[in-house]
Amino acid sequence: MKVDRIEAQHVTIPLVTPYVLSRKYGTVTHSHAVVVRVYTDDGLVGLGEADPLPPFTEESWAGVMGTIEGVLGPLLMGRDPRDILEHRLLADRALEGDLLAKGALDMALWDLLGKSNGTPVWRLLGGKLRGSVPLLWPFGSGTSAQDLERIQAKRAEGYGTFMIKMGALPIETEIQRAQAIQERFGDEIRWNVDANQGWDLGMATRFMQGTRGCGLDFVEQPVPRGDLAGLRTLRGLATHPISADEGVQTAAEALVLAGEGLVDVFSLKVTKNGGISRSLDIAAVARLQGLGVLVNSMIELGITQAAALQLAVTLPNLVPGGHCFMSTLRLTDDITSFRGLVRRAEVHVPDLPGLGVELDEAALAHHAAEGVTIRSRVRT
Ligand SMILES: [Mg+2]
Repeated sequence: MKVDRIEAQHVTIPLVTPYVLSRKYGTVTHSHAVVVRVYTDDGLVGLGEADPLPPFTEESWAGVMGTIEGVLGPLLMGRDPRDILEHRLLADRALEGDLLAKGALDMALWDLLGKSNGTPVWRLLGGKLRGSVPLLWPFGSGTSAQDLERIQAKRAEGYGTFMIKMGALPIETEIQRAQAIQERFGDEIRWNVDANQGWDLGMATRFMQGTRGCGLDFVEQPVPRGDLAGLRTLRGLATHPISADEGVQTAAEALVLAGEGLVDVFSLKVTKNGGISRSLDIAAVARLQGLGVLVNSMIELGITQAAALQLAVTLPNLVPGGHCFMSTLRLTDDITSFRGLVRRAEVHVPDLPGLGVELDEAALAHHAAEGVTIRSRVRT
């Protein structure tokens, strides 16, 4: 079995509701995915996806397309796609970073490995520990009244875990938002806060101290990526558990954070972390160091969500409560069958080969942005 064609397509789909993130990221209105199809000479197609969101990610959709067309695609051409480790080593030798581009191809190779022998990816990873995963629901920045109203509405749909986006408003307002959630819902819900690098250490310190006693599960990325001194200071306050998201993109970063005991949770995202293979490394660091894993998401379509689900059902150290399999529900449409796996705030892993989702060719054609299809030619 040999790879004989690769296609990468920029796909953009509007969100149902614009997503107000931190002051660093602004408001997101559309997904900007790169959908990758890896074709083999015996007629199989592997699906992959990258979900860049600059400046959260260093890569843009155009960068991902260029990297796949110019470097990673040609490396894979003519090779057996089941040699996932070999391709990973070749890709890492060619490019140091570019985790999203690498991740899209990695997902496609796992999909092909599963399809080539009729096996779900979760079985290839050692078997599943659960058949389904509860969803969390994230809320963009807003007023306290909006937070309470949104939580109440989603509870009625079966959601029990919420991620509250902060980092865009004055810190005293953010503290009041948290206190209002605690006062209104107490222990009836699980919730966490994501500052998305929108705070400096002073603001993070005030938030941690001002919300002491609030029963939130963790605060994600309270200081910018790489601010290890800031994390040490926050650890000294001994208030809430801390999660790393932007700060844990590579296994090397995971080793430092876990080794120094600076965080309690890693937010794993298969696109951010370079696909299933590299996410497994970070999950292993978490497991060996006694940390939890939140299976988180960027603004993702169904291929990345399916890859994350295949991984999530195999991990023994998921944090309690919901995980981020709501991404396609927040978009006006998807290009896969993933939404059909979600029933009442719970996603059920399919028993189908590979990643277990079908591509909707008509939807892909509809949402594909103009003039950005690329093709890699067979290596001669
Ligand atoms: Mg986050």
